[in-house]
Amino acid sequence: MLEQHNYVYKKEVDWSVLQQGISIPVTIQVIFQNTVNRFIPRGQSKDIFLVLEGKTYKANLVNQRFDERKYPNRKDILQIRYNPQSDIAEKLRSIFEVSYRYIIEHRNSANGNQRIFTKIPEEQKEHLAIYTTEYDDTYYLECITLEDKRVIKQTFMQEDEQEYEASINYISVDSTATIASVSQIVKERRLNRAIGENLKLLYNYQCQICGENVGDRYGVHVVEAHHIDPFVESLNNDANNQLIICPNHHRIVHRAAPEFERKKLIFIYNNGIEERLLLNRHL
Ligand SMILES: [Zn+2]
Ligand SMILES: [Zn+2]
Repeated sequence: MLEQHNYVYKKEVDWSVLQQGISIPVTIQVIFQNTVNRFIPRGQSKDIFLVLEGKTYKANLVNQRFDERKYPNRKDILQIRYNPQSDIAEKLRSIFEVSYRYIIEHRNSANGNQRIFTKIPEEQKEHLAIYTTEYDDTYYLECITLEDKRVIKQTFMQEDEQEYEASINYISVDSTATIASVSQIVKERRLNRAIGENLKLLYNYQCQICGENVGDRYGVHVVEAHHIDPFVESLNNDANNQLIICPNHHRIVHRAAPEFERKKLIFIYNNGIEERLLLNRHL
């Protein structure tokens, strides 16, 4: 049942998550964008349910109003809102205790300045994954804590990047099935796969390098998700670390190991060839 959950957003845990809610820009969230407009028109709010660790919590979903004449290209921004005293806020503070304590200590060291913004260091960041479910008013939350990340790091340190990516792109091929029962790994894979699947939809199964939709004429999609910074080293499964490429380009990129220049979106190969991404909608 969980595999059917669609990914909506991976959110860095900050003060807002622990107190009052989450803003979701839906720019690249294909599945979410398709369903949300029929559920909640712009400028309106509705009660929703959040499922976390087997329990259901109440919250509010707001589709922010904005002036379309002023911002013609702007996509909807949704907010999941709750009270600082609500059960869900309390639950999140207890799960993300490390982040909560870090922010409180930082505020105290600034003489209790409530307005100060706390930037949590990269290596201490925790994340919240939000999935849509088969019900428009119900969202499934999954927490990735610092402790989870420690387990994930230990597991993937010795893994091969291509084997790892194969396990994400092809559900049936899982060379590390023996460790798949570890809950942290299951969570990480689910999120990584969901982010990749969402991006495949965003590109309509076309390769970002050559634009081909390989397999289409045979009625299948074989495009793959690739990590710009290898996941086994970076542990970064954010959308901005993933590319959608055809199997041929995927093999070439791993075999030739070109440098990827993020600013220009160019692959630079050792033999001097430079190739710019043909398609880009998310970097
Ligand atoms: Zn290609
Ligand atoms: Zn790859």
